[in-house]
Amino acid sequence: MINLDADHLLFIEPTGAPSATPTIDHTTRKLVGAWRARRASDYAYGGFHECTGEGCRAVSDDSDYWIDGLMTNSLALHYLAFHRSEVPQSELAKIAALTAAPAEPTEEELTTDVLNGYEDEDSGLDDL
Ligand SMILES: [Zn+2]
Repeated sequence: MINLDADHLLFIEPTGAPSATPTIDHTTRKLVGAWRARRASDYAYGGFHECTGEGCRAVSDDSDYWIDGLMTNSLALHYLAFHRSEVPQSELAKIAALTAAPAEPTEEELTTDVLNGYEDEDSGLDDL
């Protein structure tokens, strides 16, 4: 789902392959700081957001999250770090306006797991 309105953050659908190494700059660190202060939904979203990037297997967890009142999901940091060239200017501007102090991402935060156990496209993931 793509949603670039003022209430959503990084609801994008990349088409290209993820970069081999993450882009870690001020914008990424800013989002990391904000992400750590996120508010999680107390319900499960009931599904997963899958990264649409070519050959990319990144999958979100099943919660909604809010950062400074903007709805996002756990792929936000992945999109920013691994699909930077496809992140619209509007989303970068939203991140620049976040109030959190920048923070250094950990290896774990840059890893999009949740793939555990899902080995192929017929895993049933698409049916969730
Ligand atoms: Zn991806």
